[in-house]
Amino acid sequence: MIDIEKIRSDFPILKREINGYPLVYFDNAATSQTPKKVIDTIVDYYSNYNANIHRGVHTLSQEATDKYEEARKKIQQHFNIRKTHEVIFTSGTTHGINLVASGFSSLLNEGDELLVSAMEHHSNIVPWQMLAEKTGAILKVIPMNEKGELEMDAFERLLSLRTRMVFCNHISNALGTVNPIKQIIEKAHKVGAAVLIDGAQACPHLKPDLQELGVDFYTVSAHKMCGPTGVGVLYGKEEWLKKLPPYQGGGEMIAEVTWEKTTYADLPHKFEAGTPNIAGGIAFGAAIDYLNEVGMDEIAAWEKELLDYGTEKLQQIKGLKIYGTATEKTSVISFNIDGLHPYDIGTIIDKLGIAVRTGHHCAQPIMEYYKIPGTVRASFAFYNTKEEIDRLVEAVERARKMLL
Ligand SMILES: *Cc1c(COP(=O)(O)O)cnc(C)c1O
Repeated sequence: MIDIEKIRSDFPILKREINGYPLVYFDNAATSQTPKKVIDTIVDYYSNYNANIHRGVHTLSQEATDKYEEARKKIQQHFNIRKTHEVIFTSGTTHGINLVASGFSSLLNEGDELLVSAMEHHSNIVPWQMLAEKTGAILKVIPMNEKGELEMDAFERLLSLRTRMVFCNHISNALGTVNPIKQIIEKAHKVGAAVLIDGAQACPHLKPDLQELGVDFYTVSAHKMCGPTGVGVLYGKEEWLKKLPPYQGGGEMIAEVTWEKTTYADLPHKFEAGTPNIAGGIAFGAAIDYLNEVGMDEIAAWEKELLDYGTEKLQQIKGLKIYGTATEKTSVISFNIDGLHPYDIGTIIDKLGIAVRTGHHCAQPIMEYYKIPGTVRASFAFYNTKEEIDRLVEAVERARKMLL
């Protein structure tokens, strides 16, 4: 069981008041809050051992390098990744996906097919559209149903020997759907296609075993899992990372540079040009430690309780409709109220201290599917409480009465 009082005391921001009310933070799917342990790690870095890594012989540089590489190992262990050098530090999920998309431009031919799920974040759509345009590959969409679940039969029909890659998020940030990625990976591999899973929304809620999944690429962002912004990880299978060309040229990613010929560094450095977000990487490691101290199973159990409670309570509001009712779902509730614009609801409840997101959640094709301009999205984390959900319900009810 989660000790909610103890956990809440770990997050300084949860003591804030907004417009005279205690903050209720339900925008966790956009970014999570940061525990003191992670904040302290960043302060410690800049206060005590700030230095550039990998190249220095001096003590500070060695300390910073050791801590940064320790963080890489922590991430490797957390996701059960086979080799440390399969962990590539990035600035986040968007960067990781673009890195892979850019690399594949030299591996695709005209007429090759790419399959993307209908419920992707724009960052797992646009890079592939750009890739398709560049290479003449064809992007096809795996459809979803009204509940916000992928149509697996249609997926199987779309798969063929022309399919080179499949992209899907592990969990949808707009609907909360947990996609059957193990099945997707297995089926894609049968036709020889590579699979990239966008794990940005999944890893705050669960702990994927990447070896067991057998996935080719998997991306995460630290800021969705109690870490800082501007840092993330791309996991890639060694054989793929060896095959892909470097993404950016610069320092750190080379073995030797001459005017005649430059050779590239070994993994992971081949994909880590320039000075990285050193403090961020180390703090990402601290965030993973923190999540494991709380316990991923405990987190999942508490968030399930919050999801069930919130779903039941919100449904009692007149005219409220929830989008995304998949059987396998995490703690995201996207909803609208008949006749009201999501933006107006969001604005009113912010005045009551409640932070939710309104709009298309970087997933416009989903909104197009439901023929709506957007939704109000309340997304819960393990530091949220049922009392906070009661406040949300009360505030939404108040907004409804004011606006209708
Ligand atoms: C947040 C999110 C992204 C983008 O992550 P960045 O950290 O902004 O790069 C991509 N996909 C999903 C599912 C997300 O939730």
